[in-house]
Amino acid sequence: MLIITCPFCGERNESEFSFGGPAGADRPDPTKVSDAEWVDYLTVVPNPLGPVQERWCHTRGCGEWLTIWRDTRTHDIVGGPDGA
Ligand SMILES: [Zn+2]
Repeated sequence: MLIITCPFCGERNESEFSFGGPAGADRPDPTKVSDAEWVDYLTVVPNPLGPVQERWCHTRGCGEWLTIWRDTRTHDIVGGPDGA
């Protein structure tokens, strides 16, 4: 179980948060990409090995969104909202 530090509420259990996907994923213009590229954007979640930047929402708390760095090899949070 992850302990995620919300900048507004402090350390909280992962169960209070909702995963929002990778941070910085650019949304393509659906009128300018092929159907296959659009389906890939909607359904294929990148899963690189190592540190990744992710968006989480504190849905069962303050409701704010935050960005964290998580290492996919260890599941450890390796950076906070500012990437530190
Ligand atoms: Zn919060």
